[in-house]
Amino acid sequence: MHEVTVNLHMHTRYSDGSGVHKDIAAAALKAGVDAVIVTDHNILVQGFEGYYKDKNRKILMLIGEEVHDQARDPQKNHLLVFGANRELATFAENPQNLINQVREAGGICFLAHPDDPEAKAFNETDISWEDWSVQNYTGIELWNALSELKTVVPTKLHGAFYAFFPAFVANQPIPNTLTKWDELLASGQKVVAIGGSDAHALDMHMGPIHRIIFPYEFHFRTVNTHTLLPGPLTGDVTSDRSAIYRAFAAGHCFIGNDLPAPTKGFRFSAQGKEGNAVMGDEIPAKFGVTLQTKVPSAGEIILLKDGRPIQTWMNQLSCTYITAEPGVYRVEVYRNYLGKRRGWIYSNPIYVR
Ligand SMILES: [Zn+2]
Ligand SMILES: [Zn+2]
Repeated sequence: MHEVTVNLHMHTRYSDGSGVHKDIAAAALKAGVDAVIVTDHNILVQGFEGYYKDKNRKILMLIGEEVHDQARDPQKNHLLVFGANRELATFAENPQNLINQVREAGGICFLAHPDDPEAKAFNETDISWEDWSVQNYTGIELWNALSELKTVVPTKLHGAFYAFFPAFVANQPIPNTLTKWDELLASGQKVVAIGGSDAHALDMHMGPIHRIIFPYEFHFRTVNTHTLLPGPLTGDVTSDRSAIYRAFAAGHCFIGNDLPAPTKGFRFSAQGKEGNAVMGDEIPAKFGVTLQTKVPSAGEIILLKDGRPIQTWMNQLSCTYITAEPGVYRVEVYRNYLGKRRGWIYSNPIYVR
C-alpha cells in the first residue's frame, strides 16, 4: 500500500482564517505533506482544487467544508464534510438530516472537535459535538490540534508563550474524546478516526506583541492523517481525490503527530487463515489472527482491545500479538519529546469478529 500524508481541517479568509489558498499551498510544499483539505465554515469554496507545484515537489489541495448551524446558540455540532458534490450548509439546522444529505451527495463526514472547551483567552465558547443520537457518519476528528490548544491556554499570556514555543503543545487527543471513541466502537459501529489541525493562522495582538500564532506550516508538521492507498497518487485530481476519500471512508489511515519524529511507515495489520486486514478492515477470529505493528522508530507501543490496554512494548520497531478473541483492536504509540510523553501515533482499529 502507498502512504499519503494528509493535513486536513483548515480555514482561510473565506471564513475565519487569516491566510489564502496559495499561502496554504506554499506552507504545505515547505512542510512536505502530500495533500491538504481546506474546510471553510459553511461554504464550499470553488476553484482551488488541484495540484500546486514548486520546483520538483507537488501537493494536492482538496476543498471540503465545515458545516454548523450559525443560528444555534451556542454554535455546537460542527461537521467536516469531504467529497460532497454540492453546497450543504443549508442543511445545518438538523445534524442527522445534514449527515443524510452528505451521503446523498456522495460525500463522507466526520464529527469535528467532539470535545472543544471554552477558551476565555480567545473569547471562544464551548463548541463540542452535542447531538450524539446521530448515525451514519463516517467517523470523528479524534485529535483536533486547536481544541487541545484551548485546554492548555487559560489566559492570553499562556497563548503568547505557545505562540513563540508552539512545539510545547501537541501532546495528545483530549482524553474524553478517546473514551467517547471507544464507547462508540463498543456499540458495534465502525467509527473512523482522523486528526485535524483546525489551522486558522490567527493574528494575535497583545501589547507590543503582534504575531501569527500557529501558522499553517507549523500545523502541517504536526497532526496529520496518514492514509494508505492501493496505488501511488497519479497526478490526476479526480482519481486521486476519490482514492483518498475512499481510504478515509474505509478507515485505512492513522493519525501521526509528526513533530516529535516522522510517523511515516507506521503499520498495523492482521494476518488470518483466510486473508489479511489493514486498519479499518474486519477479519474473522475463528482460526486465530496475528496482529502486527511496525513503527518507523522506537516508541512505547500499546495494543488496546475494546478500549483497554492488553500489552505494551518498549523500544521495539515491530511486535506481534496472536489472538482468537473477537474485539476491536487498535494501537497507540507514545514518545518523549521536549521533556514530555507525547501521543505520537493513533491507529484506526482492526475489527476481529
Ligand atoms: Zn469547528
Ligand atoms: Zn474549524
